[in-house]
Amino acid sequence: MTDNITKPARTRYAPSPTGNPHIGNIRTAIFAYLWAKHTGGQFLLRIEDTDKKRQTETGVQDIKNSLGWLSLDWDEGPDKGGPFAPYVQSERLDLYQSIAKKMVEDGTAYYCYCTPERLDAVNKAKQAIKQAPGYDRRCRTISETEKEAALASGLTPTIRFKVPLEGKTTFTDLVVKPLTVENSTIQDAVILKSDGFPTYHLAHIVDDHFMEISHVIRGQEWLPSAPLHVMIYQALGWEMPAFIHAPVILNPPGQKGKLSKRDNAVSVSQYSELGYLPEALMNFLVLLGWSYDDHTEFFSMEDLIKDFDIARIQPTPAKFNIDKLDFLNAHYINHVLTVDDFARRCLPFLAEYGVISPEEAANPGARWEFIRAACALVKDKVKTLAEVPVEIDFLFKPGAALEYPATDLIGKNEGPAAAAQVLEETINYLRDIPDETYNDRDAILAGLTEISENKLHLKNRGLMLWPPRVALSGRTKSPDLMGMIITLGRAETLARLEKGKQSLA
Ligand code: GLU
Repeated sequence: MTDNITKPARTRYAPSPTGNPHIGNIRTAIFAYLWAKHTGGQFLLRIEDTDKKRQTETGVQDIKNSLGWLSLDWDEGPDKGGPFAPYVQSERLDLYQSIAKKMVEDGTAYYCYCTPERLDAVNKAKQAIKQAPGYDRRCRTISETEKEAALASGLTPTIRFKVPLEGKTTFTDLVVKPLTVENSTIQDAVILKSDGFPTYHLAHIVDDHFMEISHVIRGQEWLPSAPLHVMIYQALGWEMPAFIHAPVILNPPGQKGKLSKRDNAVSVSQYSELGYLPEALMNFLVLLGWSYDDHTEFFSMEDLIKDFDIARIQPTPAKFNIDKLDFLNAHYINHVLTVDDFARRCLPFLAEYGVISPEEAANPGARWEFIRAACALVKDKVKTLAEVPVEIDFLFKPGAALEYPATDLIGKNEGPAAAAQVLEETINYLRDIPDETYNDRDAILAGLTEISENKLHLKNRGLMLWPPRVALSGRTKSPDLMGMIITLGRAETLARLEKGKQSLA
């Protein structure tokens, strides 16, 4: 490991509140969080709300919910405050405006009086001669008279960065190869819009500087703009933080045109609704572009904080594979969660499916033991929490409401009479055993085996266990029979077995 930690890092997640965060975007938050925590530093949340048109009403809350669900707590940011508050860009407009004006005074930026119509016409003319669209830098040399005329017409100018046209600029990243560009190929980007809001190019540089960010971790989609950002840092005379551009994600979800929700999920909240655990999604996302070594797959948050190293973020694209997420989710459900924790997390899914009420989900009270036992029956089988109610809903319905063809009760038994006899013997056995035996899985299995072998002389125990399984669940595939017998309790079990027996008469 090449940690090279000389001082605690200050990192930030800087989303725009445009809807539920996409998992690719959240992955950069995970990297930033882990690097801050690994180095004993701070992780900041900054809301980049400078593009008013793209914002949604619940955007900020959606971001907070997604981070909260994944336990990515921020040290400074909205709600928490901090030494560099406010952490919402729309509340920092004065700062961006004063810096943009200072840049004009210093000669590193200029007012642009071009109308949207003119900019459009310039782009079209360039396209007509097969040139890349872009601004022709006209207002660098505009005359005073033209400026006055533009102002008199009521136009509010924008401020553009004045790219130094000579020479080349090199951008250096900790992950991707250095990038060198001819300065003359870079656009004079708008840094302050006519509505007084900054663009991303200015705002993030100003904030990263004043918030003392040491490492900017962002997606590779920003790489083409990075040389421009180097030039702006140079124009301001500020030291640049370290940059890490996280790799793109190949085969991103939601783009395969498939119909299943699982294949089309793109946001953290969608994965949560599909029954994925935050532990699993976190483990899955961190491995999209980072690895500890060539074989370790499972990482708890503690492991990640201990082992995460930006030096092992890979520059090459990461492959999105939903089956891997299923595999990790099953691992956490089957092997990591306690039964209590698992059952507690199943509550909203049981309510959503209608097997318990929302009130019971919020406060299960006396029903908790039953719900817990019912969930426990499938803990080692399911891959997602959303599968749980589908597997166990029959336990919650009154037995009398179970509907299934009577022939299902027979299975490989000789016929209806043989299956009815199995049910009869099961009823007699379960009715008479003492409570301790009734609640002992192995004792019940031993009792039923004994009847199968020595009383009914069945060819195999499966013939004995089949009819009660169907009678209790209404299904030919169900959780463990003994578990169902214990969970349903004696009265309900006997009623279901009796109903099955009657249906074979
Ligand atoms: N607001 C930008 C985005 O959401 C932030 C990029 C960055 O991390 O600098 O893409």
